[in-house]
Amino acid sequence: MRKKIVAGNWKMNLNLPEGLELINEIYNGAPELNKNKEIVIAPPFIHITQAASQLSNMEHVHLGAQNCHHEAAGAYTGEVSASMLKSAEVEYVILGHSERRQYFHEDGTMLAKKVNQVLSNGMKVIFCCGEPLEIRDAGTENNYVGTQIEEGLFHLNADHLANVVIAYEPIWAIGTGRTASSAQAQDMHAHIRSVISAQYGPDVAASISILYGGSCKPSNAAELFACPDVDGGLIGGAALKAEEFLAIVAAIPAN
Ligand code: PEP
Repeated sequence: MRKKIVAGNWKMNLNLPEGLELINEIYNGAPELNKNKEIVIAPPFIHITQAASQLSNMEHVHLGAQNCHHEAAGAYTGEVSASMLKSAEVEYVILGHSERRQYFHEDGTMLAKKVNQVLSNGMKVIFCCGEPLEIRDAGTENNYVGTQIEEGLFHLNADHLANVVIAYEPIWAIGTGRTASSAQAQDMHAHIRSVISAQYGPDVAASISILYGGSCKPSNAAELFACPDVDGGLIGGAALKAEEFLAIVAAIPAN
């Protein structure tokens, strides 16, 4: 059975005391979850070591990072490597977020290298994909997202892909308040699963978790998470308030 995951991407928000307070609130408010359900929080790099010690007793809240460099080490001023994240007890690394693709020019070739860094350091990838509005309006979103997955992930074998979670985040829905309808989300998630199935076979496709992201909030999470191919969410704005984030966690279906 594939995992249901609610992951919070804090982006460049909250200073250290604010971040630690939010973790504390999540720590105190998070429900006991069974093994098939996970909460992930991805604070800024600078919060990570203290976040790790705050979360050390908590089995179902996992620590994530928002990015890493595509090389193992070296003269890359200001960057953070996958092995540094691993040594700070990070379990998940978000890669290919549309903001990184847009503002930092991350392309498929670079993302494939980042994926390799994360996996070879024994962590899991949350691999983001999603189309801009003009692609959705042109009706070519399936091809667009399929290509992102091919470029970023298809160099992996099935064993390595088992440590990848996909997050579908239509760019027109990120931070805009405009959520994909549950039908739009389900259609794309089913498409992504078919792309994985064509490359790796139906068993691998059935076991990969695919999260939805884009203005997911307490009022729409239950409907989105009830879609058969939606296995939880990657949450931006609503992950910055414990009450909202935990209400989204509570929307994960029982089975
Ligand atoms: C995100 O950027 O990963 C995201 C889903 O943001 P928001 O929930 O704010 O739309």
